[in-house]
Amino acid sequence: MYRAKRGREGVSVYEAGTCAGAEESSLAAELLMAIERDEITLVFQPEQAVGSGRIVTVEALARWMRADGTPVPPSTFVPLAEEVGLIRPLTVLTMRKALDEVLGWRRSGLDVAVSVNLSAQLVSDRSVPGLVEELLRERGLTGDALILEITETAAIGSVDVARDVLQDLRALAVRIELDDFGSGYASARTLRDIPLDGVKIDRDLVNDHTPGGRTMLTSMIQLGKVLDLYVVAEGIENESGLDALRSLGADVVQGYHLARPMPPTHIRQTLLEHAAAVDARTGVTR
Ligand code: C2E
Ligand code: MG
Ligand code: MG
Ligand code: MG
Repeated sequence: MYRAKRGREGVSVYEAGTCAGAEESSLAAELLMAIERDEITLVFQPEQAVGSGRIVTVEALARWMRADGTPVPPSTFVPLAEEVGLIRPLTVLTMRKALDEVLGWRRSGLDVAVSVNLSAQLVSDRSVPGLVEELLRERGLTGDALILEITETAAIGSVDVARDVLQDLRALAVRIELDDFGSGYASARTLRDIPLDGVKIDRDLVNDHTPGGRTMLTSMIQLGKVLDLYVVAEGIENESGLDALRSLGADVVQGYHLARPMPPTHIRQTLLEHAAAVDARTGVTR
């Protein structure tokens, strides 16, 4: 399915190139090549349950190193992919790799899910639930192995279609999280209109120590709880941040203070060591 689509997507890159700047169009052509050659890689950042201390989820984050060795950040190439019609193949690639990894973790006996960022464009793409179902089935995985983080809901084309898409995904037992919650992108309207399982509080809010910022943070966590959603806090950078989020009632925490994003081999080792350490502390034997 992916192969058959390549030609069309190649053309859309070319067409975008005729109106965009030359530099951008050559970067888009490089991105297409990187996707085709499977050169986009993933790094993985753990998320830890506050109560048990266990790593319950690992977020997959895309990385692209150009042929000349310069890294392009996802904040550049994800919007570029959206603009030139490459977001679907990019997402297929990241989901495929993320699910390959979670399969390996689960085979090692780890009860961990992988979390993938889903571009707003794809939240209203009716082909996405079928695609996810197929990728799960190919690996013998159930939907509880996958979380999809959605953001910038202002950019979602049709709320009605988005609601259907997300409902179909949840019917597969895939969980949906609203990412960057409290950053201004994720509006209250989204909370009302879109089916969600959790919210992920934006790191800027987590790290805003002004009285106003703290009030906002507290309110956002309470709002999530009132709506019966679980609350993840991203961007925890120090012990005091961890203490604060714990006492405010976050369910899950993530950030450099706990662990940085790491390559696949490293995350596997980290997950095994961490699970063994928690088992030892709590007297669990496997
Ligand atoms: P995000 O999903 O909100 O991911 C969190 C970003 O914060 C990541 O940056 C992560 O490396 C960084 N981070 C994690 N902990 C800390 C911390 O304690 N302090 C600070 N200062 N930063 C922290 P990254 O990997 O550069 O990703 C940036 C954004 O790009 C992501 O934000 C996400 O929206 C997007 N992105 C990344 N990978 C993908 C992808 O595969 N698909 C899509 N659609 N978007 C992606
Ligand atoms: Mg995210
Ligand atoms: Mg986030
Ligand atoms: Mg963020």
